[in-house]
Amino acid sequence: MVMSEKAKAICRFCGSEHSDSKFKAIDTFDTLYEIRQCAECRCWFLYPPPTEEQLSQAYNKAYYGAAEEKFTFFYVEKLLDLFRRRRAKKIVKLVPEHSSILDIGCGNGDFLNYISKMGNYQLYGIERDEIASKRAALKTNIHLQSTALSETDFGENFFDIITLIHVFEHLWSPEQTLSIISNILKPGGILIITIPNIGSWQAKLFKGNWLHLDPPRHLLFFEPNDLIRIMQEKGFSLVKEQYFSIEQNPFGVIQSLLNLVCKKREVLYERMKGNMHYAPEYGRFNVFVQKAFFMLHFPLFIATDIIAALFKRSGTVKFTFKNTKS
Ligand SMILES: [Zn+2]
Repeated sequence: MVMSEKAKAICRFCGSEHSDSKFKAIDTFDTLYEIRQCAECRCWFLYPPPTEEQLSQAYNKAYYGAAEEKFTFFYVEKLLDLFRRRRAKKIVKLVPEHSSILDIGCGNGDFLNYISKMGNYQLYGIERDEIASKRAALKTNIHLQSTALSETDFGENFFDIITLIHVFEHLWSPEQTLSIISNILKPGGILIITIPNIGSWQAKLFKGNWLHLDPPRHLLFFEPNDLIRIMQEKGFSLVKEQYFSIEQNPFGVIQSLLNLVCKKREVLYERMKGNMHYAPEYGRFNVFVQKAFFMLHFPLFIATDIIAALFKRSGTVKFTFKNTKS
């Protein structure tokens, strides 16, 4: 297809038509994308935008795990539970009991479920994926919505805390979502956002092979200072930014390194999620070697993440914002 026949590259965040091509990336279905950066708002976005068919293929059963849980081996799910519990504890410390909490993109609802065990809270979750939301619906202490967040879902100043844990980069209409959040979050309410850090050393080093690029599911990215600026324009002030993450960052380096040497991306990651049909050319022994590489190098890349975090160059970042509207 020649360039003129392609759809215009429109910024996912601000709608500007002025952007620069940065690098290319191939997804797990061998579709080629470009990563572009908007000249106006500095948003990085996936181009061309994936079609509905490409997205539903990408969010298939294997994305959320074929079984009850997302990850099927290595005790990975147990470890992730530990992280979720720790995250829940931190949330509970931020607000008094009976507060109302919304987790956008709540997945299986495990995170909200942990909060429910720590006290009496009004818990709301939004999960658009059918399989994940069915699992979340089994948790009766959560008010679950399986459609995208819209203006009319909740009243003004309804929530004390809203969380977007690795969800912002998946949003089709991120600017609109932030406006709704600003409206339904109380004055002084807390908004927690975690995102891949496209300004990180791992992003700069691996470009199209970077794990957290995750095409075509991740539609947009921001460098930390650009997101902070945009959030300030939306009426949010930064309370805290945290870069070090054992859960996200060391594996980001390991899988990106493996992507450099393998012909297909995310072979190890897909197998860990129980997606046994992906890249069958990689046999048991090959995956075993990849697993061994992962185990042996994990401590090293925890150490490098401590250094990267000092420079705000870790693979992912967690922001805590406060709604400054009156
Ligand atoms: Zn833009």
